[in-house]
Amino acid sequence: MTRRRAPLAFAALTVGVTLVLGWQERRLQTRQRQECLAVLRWVDAAKEQLCMDSRLRSGYQPQWRELRTYFQDPGKVVCPEGGTIILGEFHSPAYCSVHGVLGS
Ligand SMILES: [Zn+2]
Repeated sequence: MTRRRAPLAFAALTVGVTLVLGWQERRLQTRQRQECLAVLRWVDAAKEQLCMDSRLRSGYQPQWRELRTYFQDPGKVVCPEGGTIILGEFHSPAYCSVHGVLGS
């Protein structure tokens, strides 16, 4: 490699590394979003089950302590990016402060 081509090669390498890092970051974000949406599905299913079991009213807003028994491992019911999961009322979807609601 000549001295004149070295800066060009360095620039190309820098662009390549930047593209790869950006691609990996997007893959990680996509995976974390999918994991979070799976958690939201668990939460919604637990809310529905609690609603049927307790016969509480439709507008009732369940608390986490009421749902814990419906999760095999309650410690895994978290957003992988640290978002806050908002339970919401019965018959309305739970949502995450980072990833939103299912289907959005
Ligand atoms: Zn989330």
